[in-house]
Amino acid sequence: MDKFAVFGDPINHSISPRLHNMAIKEFGFDAFYGRIHLEDGSRLKELFLKLNLQGANITVPYKEIAYEICNRIDPLAEKIGAVNTIVKKDGEIYGYNTDAGGFLKSIKFLGEIKKALIIGAGGSAKAIAYGLKDKSSEVHIVNRSQKRAENFKDFAFYTWNDYKIYDYDIVINSTSAGLKDDELPLPKELLADTLKRSQFAYEIIYNKATPFLQISHELNIDCKNGADMLLFQAILAFNRFYFNDLDEQRIESAMRKALFL
Ligand code: NDP
Repeated sequence: MDKFAVFGDPINHSISPRLHNMAIKEFGFDAFYGRIHLEDGSRLKELFLKLNLQGANITVPYKEIAYEICNRIDPLAEKIGAVNTIVKKDGEIYGYNTDAGGFLKSIKFLGEIKKALIIGAGGSAKAIAYGLKDKSSEVHIVNRSQKRAENFKDFAFYTWNDYKIYDYDIVINSTSAGLKDDELPLPKELLADTLKRSQFAYEIIYNKATPFLQISHELNIDCKNGADMLLFQAILAFNRFYFNDLDEQRIESAMRKALFL
């Protein structure tokens, strides 16, 4: 039996086991995908090997540690400096970042993105920024503080104080503002003025009608939440577990059922 798992802290909320086990069932594989609450990130490699996992997903706060334990890193994950999918092959650990690819797949219907604004400068912002840059988009970042600016040396980086508004094809809220509170990711007036000059609003939080989505609706800006990003990162990861040999559409239809359980 092939064994897979997601590692993180916290981990109870993760729907990855549901998504992956549904795909395993669809393909009739002899496999199981579990969840592991990892309190000490330095044990990631030891546990991955000891449990004899074929592959794993890594979530907050261990994506940078996962990057460190890999023998081989995919070029996009290398730029991002974080890995959310690891796969064992010929005794080596291969690392990928499917958050970036998952995001890109979720906005494919928009066509070419010339200029994008990412609000926030955390781990997901970095994956999205490098994913968009890889597709030749110009990416700007605006964050409430300066403290993470050094992670975005390849991009125009603003804080709320020096931020200037441009016309954007897409504005992405990658912050956790609105997840457990009613906060907006940017001061209201700045955000409204930005959205009015933008074609599309994207909220990466996937399970809540956040204030960012509400204001986008009020201003009549087309928008969507992060459910497809979550789904597509899982589809890409599942295919990596099986060496990219599987039909993506078939994985998608199985996982979509799990998403709405
Ligand atoms: P991080 O903790 O790495 O980064 C959080 C960012 O949000 C920082 O830039 C922080 O600013 C900013 N921020 C937090 N609170 C506020 C606020 N009240 N106002 C303005 N800015 C704020 O988080 P991640 O990047 O890992 O995740 C962010 C969100 O994305 C989470 O809600 C997570 O659930 C969601 N997510 C969704 C995914 C999907 O597949 N749909 C995938 C991954 C994440 P500062 O630097 O000043 O502290």
